[in-house]
Amino acid sequence: MPKFFIKTYGCQMNERDSEQVAHSLIARGYERSESELEADVVLLNTCSVRDMADQKALGKMGMLGRIANERPHVVFGFLGCMAQARGASLLKNLPHVDLVVGTQKFHRVADYVEQALETKRYRAMDDPRFSIVAIDEEIGSQSTIRHQQLAPKQATAFVSIMQGCNMHCTFCIVPHTRGAERCRTIEEIVAEVRDLVSRGVKEVTLLGQIVNLYGRHEFPKIDNKSPFVQLLDAVHEVDGLQRLRFTSPHPIGFREDLIDAYRRLPKLVDHLHLPVQSGSNKILKAMHRTYTAEKYVDLVRRIRDARKGIAITTDIIVGFPSETEDDFNQTRALVEKIKFDNAFVFRYSPRRNTPAAEMANQIDENIKERRNHDLLGVVDNSARRINERLLGRILEVLCEGPSKTNPSRLMGRTRTNKIVLFEGSEDFSGTLVDIRIERTTGFSLYGTPVPTEERVATIAA
Ligand code: SF4
Repeated sequence: MPKFFIKTYGCQMNERDSEQVAHSLIARGYERSESELEADVVLLNTCSVRDMADQKALGKMGMLGRIANERPHVVFGFLGCMAQARGASLLKNLPHVDLVVGTQKFHRVADYVEQALETKRYRAMDDPRFSIVAIDEEIGSQSTIRHQQLAPKQATAFVSIMQGCNMHCTFCIVPHTRGAERCRTIEEIVAEVRDLVSRGVKEVTLLGQIVNLYGRHEFPKIDNKSPFVQLLDAVHEVDGLQRLRFTSPHPIGFREDLIDAYRRLPKLVDHLHLPVQSGSNKILKAMHRTYTAEKYVDLVRRIRDARKGIAITTDIIVGFPSETEDDFNQTRALVEKIKFDNAFVFRYSPRRNTPAAEMANQIDENIKERRNHDLLGVVDNSARRINERLLGRILEVLCEGPSKTNPSRLMGRTRTNKIVLFEGSEDFSGTLVDIRIERTTGFSLYGTPVPTEERVATIAA
């Protein structure tokens, strides 16, 4: 059977979409290949959030043209956000591309691949170029991301609960590439989680662009609980599930019922990724983020009160149009005040079809670079200090298997989403292990497994 290779750029939603595509190809007998050089089908699942992501995928596809010359039967495709945003224009400079498949058509990729392979196999050399461009909307597409292959002993899995976003932050291309908010039902999601847990998964991450606003247009509040909190309750009930994560929420809509979930639901992990984007109210307003820095700080305080020791991480954009030194210093002050466990700091990247790209006072790249570097220093300091406080402690780690960078070590995550590397038997893979933390290099922690009784004794002491 033909072999396929998928490379994924961007976020966890893209990773999840790629797994759906892989599942549909494997279900038809295709074999997954780790190398594009051996594959008969080469798919790039793209990201459009920053210009660099676009350029990486375009550059990669350009280089793949070499394979196309040597192995003309190979099918090449762009999938996902950049495919959605650029459509047929992608074919102009990359004539070897056969498929351009947008974000509402992942479930049709296997059909398109078969058509493409078949056409290439039988077409006469002088046939007009074959290509499929599928980027139109499809009702119900949010419910088609529901299958995935699991590796042996796979302990964690992503579950896509919704697609799209109606928030229209002025810097963001997502509403353009992913469309309006559409949600799966609670029943469908719980059924998928049950199935994953029955196959050995211990931790699920619920995925959505604005995950906490799940279902706000489709489902009613019940007992003052938003549809998202109802979903958390229902997933929490799944027997055998040990940990429940979600990403990414929006500070808007993070109400008391969700904060209370941290008091009530022990499987909800001790980590929250809560994008702030800026500490300046002027910039937040220009971004159309509709909260203030003060409200964000207060929200974090209330979440920390509800769940002691919760790790908070964030996203920040520096160099948004018209950001002055004073605006930047307000962001810096907020970051120093909150002491995030970690943060992704991005230089603002103008995206076509977004209001911010047309704004006056675009910021010079050198200034963005300086602010980016400066803020990363503040984030690194607080991340290192927080990790140093963990030295000597025994933490519960969900072992995900051998580390990708050094397979002689195992890798796992704490409930606070910190990466822990340790040595031990492969039998630990897919299980919860107690690890004594002995060393930190800033972001990663290193430790040694300890017997459970020792951990219990430490906690009791
Ligand atoms: S909330 Fe804003 S940043 Fe997030 S996906 Fe929606 S528009 Fe983009």
